[in-house]
Amino acid sequence: MTSENSTGQVVVRLDDVRKEYGQSVALDGVSLEIRAGEAVAVMGPSGCGKSTLLNMIAGLDRPSSGTINVHGDDVGSLNETGLALFRRHRIGMVFQFFNLLDDLSAIDNVALAAQLTGTSAREARKRALELLDNLGVADRRNNYPATLSGGQRQRVAVARALMNRPALLLADEPTGALDRQSGEQVMKLLLDLNQMGQTLLIVTHDPLLAERCASRLIEFEDGRIARESALERAV
Ligand code: ADP
Ligand code: MG
Repeated sequence: MTSENSTGQVVVRLDDVRKEYGQSVALDGVSLEIRAGEAVAVMGPSGCGKSTLLNMIAGLDRPSSGTINVHGDDVGSLNETGLALFRRHRIGMVFQFFNLLDDLSAIDNVALAAQLTGTSAREARKRALELLDNLGVADRRNNYPATLSGGQRQRVAVARALMNRPALLLADEPTGALDRQSGEQVMKLLLDLNQMGQTLLIVTHDPLLAERCASRLIEFEDGRIARESALERAV
């Protein structure tokens, strides 16, 4: 199952990345590689730097030192315009609390991601509908986020994240705000995506999510990688 993954090209490479916020050190020399097709879970106590790690890889924030390379882009050296393009084209991101736009319907939330990269509104809506359909929420396409369940919102958020066919899907506690049943559905969805080839990096508190979805576990403590292990996925 995992042998083909270990030969995939490197999608993410961090080399000795540090991030300081004032006096506090959020990342303290992190080096790691993620290859195409891998599903990597990051676990660790609150405040150990997991979200900071994802935000750095996504180009939402910059490291204090060290380098981050994603799909050939040296993220730290991009200017603001370059970073915006990088985020739109290379990265899909899913958050604990969905971060959908309240004033847009489900389909418009998803389509907007493609319109921002220059796709026509018509093409964008067509692909958005396909994705909503694949994720089982096409019948909710005209609903506003407030009228969707947590699980439905997260499916819409995943569709939005996939819209521009990102090299990497980043998920920060994607089941953290969901009840057990919706959480299980989102786990299944992430596993399916990975099995179709999507490279994943998932931050989670839930050992079940890591075991189900990830092929490798990285354990964080105090801004550093404390342990790494391969996981046997029980599918
Ligand atoms: P985790 O996601 O593992 O709970 P975070 O990456 O959110 O941890 O935070 C790591 C550390 O960095 C914490 O001490 C947190 O308070 C600090 N931190 C994170 N983001 C900021 C920020 N924007 N400004 C100041 N401190 C921050
Ligand atoms: Mg966090």
